[in-house]
Amino acid sequence: MKINIPEIRKQIEEVEEDLLLTNTVINDVYDELKRQRKMYHVQRHSNLKWLPILLEEVGEVAEALQIDTQAAKESDADDLYKELTQVAAVAISWAAQLKEQKDQK
Ligand SMILES: [Mg+2]
Repeated sequence: MKINIPEIRKQIEEVEEDLLLTNTVINDVYDELKRQRKMYHVQRHSNLKWLPILLEEVGEVAEALQIDTQAAKESDADDLYKELTQVAAVAISWAAQLKEQKDQK
């Protein structure tokens, strides 16, 4: 098998660029987590209460997707990126609680 060094270099550069981009998204999710902590303090809920909280955020993702369609409403969320960071932040908060509970066992 012939090794294609330029192709490997290109793939490494693409992975490095993607990781840098991903890191900026993780920072934005962290900022969203801090915003949510300021608003709601530390959240501890049952799994059955976490699910609708997460689904509400997912619903706002769906709203943002339907912008510029006939189904769009004035009250719809319109920033898809922001809504996705909010979904991630809620999922992380829920997962953190599960980890805390698991580590206490
Ligand atoms: Mg939202």
